[in-house]
Amino acid sequence: MAVTMTVQPIILGGGLAGLSACYHGNGVVYEKDSSPGGHARSHSANGFVFDEGIHVLHTTNKYVLSLMEEIKADLILKDRNAWIMSNGAMTRYPFQANTYGLPVDIVKECLIGFVQNEFDDPDKIKNYEDWLYYMFGKGITERFMIPYSKKFWGVEPRELTTEWVNIRHPRPSLDEVISGALQDQTKGFGVNARFRYPSEGGFGNVAEALARQCRDRVQLGMRATRIDVKNREIEFNGEECRRYENIISTLRLPEVIRIITDAPDAVREAASKLRTNSLFVVNVGVDRENISDKSWIYFLEKEFSFVRVSFPFNFSNAVTPDGTSSISAEVAYGNGNSLPTSKDKIADRVLDDLVKAKLLFKEDKIIHVNTIDVKYGYVIFDKSRKPAVNVIHRFLKEKGIVPCGRYGMWGYLWSDEAILSGKKAAEALLRDPP
Ligand SMILES: Cc1cc2nc3c(=O)[nH]c(=O)nc-3n(C[C@H](O)[C@H](O)[C@H](O)COP(=O)(O)OP(=O)(O)OC[C@H]3O[C@@H](n4cnc5c(N)ncnc54)[C@H](O)[C@@H]3O)c2cc1C
Repeated sequence: MAVTMTVQPIILGGGLAGLSACYHGNGVVYEKDSSPGGHARSHSANGFVFDEGIHVLHTTNKYVLSLMEEIKADLILKDRNAWIMSNGAMTRYPFQANTYGLPVDIVKECLIGFVQNEFDDPDKIKNYEDWLYYMFGKGITERFMIPYSKKFWGVEPRELTTEWVNIRHPRPSLDEVISGALQDQTKGFGVNARFRYPSEGGFGNVAEALARQCRDRVQLGMRATRIDVKNREIEFNGEECRRYENIISTLRLPEVIRIITDAPDAVREAASKLRTNSLFVVNVGVDRENISDKSWIYFLEKEFSFVRVSFPFNFSNAVTPDGTSSISAEVAYGNGNSLPTSKDKIADRVLDDLVKAKLLFKEDKIIHVNTIDVKYGYVIFDKSRKPAVNVIHRFLKEKGIVPCGRYGMWGYLWSDEAILSGKKAAEALLRDPP
């Protein structure tokens, strides 16, 4: 087999992190699929455009916002209108600030728990569950946070650490908690109270715009199948072999370790400890306009198969044919959660549950259904994660492989953070080539 020499960094993966590394550096992207974007790509069929689960840009990072202008991603600013369905009631998101509308005994329990919080010593926080009690008190934690967490992650909250929580769980003031219990509180909370979405195409337009800037430096249909770190050779599609000086890898850490020949046992062992949840996404096109005014709704109880349902037609006019609406339902599985039924039957189950949730009428005409199985969803921050990631990262860096992106860092990176992570990796290589 002929081996060609590649001087520029090889960038593995053409998701947002890989494209960003390419844009900000001098490497070439090798992407296994036939289009760029990774999880941030969109899928079109029958006039509907769907993302891989909800994808909106809720960054406040000035650099990312200026980059979006530079690459002409053409984003529109929207107000979030997010809700939670629980205990037979629909309340505004986030739960901790908006209990108005729930049965009175639950509202009372949440308020008393918030005011008379017995978990008041931050030094006693040992895991995510402790953190929830400390931040929100007993009522909010037990009525919403713990059950939702189990439904979403498939693990007990006490198995999770607190490294990832920061801005993702805003703590309302006492004033806000009381106001939100007495009346419908429209004030927006949290990082994504306003978000941006492309005016054309779906969220995938961001990746497409970035890929356009990289021009001929994005090679599609190139799956890395073997990396020989001793001889610094990489093989694509089981045939084409190149010698490299360094690699920027956005691949899922367990997968990059799997294709490295002679990875030490300790590194393989570390990779086997990494976990994510998975999401089975059911996308539905409905022959009725404006079926909802909401952005998305979280579903707490297990009687509903999905954890979240979003309405992409409310993000942009360009993702549905005239006179129709679209729904994207995310069913979480993995770890302790099994899918509610076999994969070929989930779409039917989701449609039934959408009727049960009064989001669809039984007589609605469904004109499009497709499913997307997102195997690597959200990284599980359990106690094994940090030491395992450290072992893997140390090994990769020794071998001239710089990890970045959501699954290279094995973190809770949103799309803007994936972009910044790719930029950082590329700039570090430009500044300080190994
Ligand atoms: C369900 C879901 C909803 C989300 N919602 C939001 C949101 O609303 N807002 C937000 O900001 N972020 C959201 N995110 C996060 C966002 O999708 C990610 O941060 C971002 O897309 C990660 O980009 P990445 O390039 O790091 O990884 P990826 O998108 O995973 O890219 C990795 C790329 O590597 C390719 N690849 C894999 N193996 C190989 C191989 N062997 N050879 C070559 N190529 C390979 C893959 O095909 C892929 O294109 C969401 C994520 C998920 C899963």
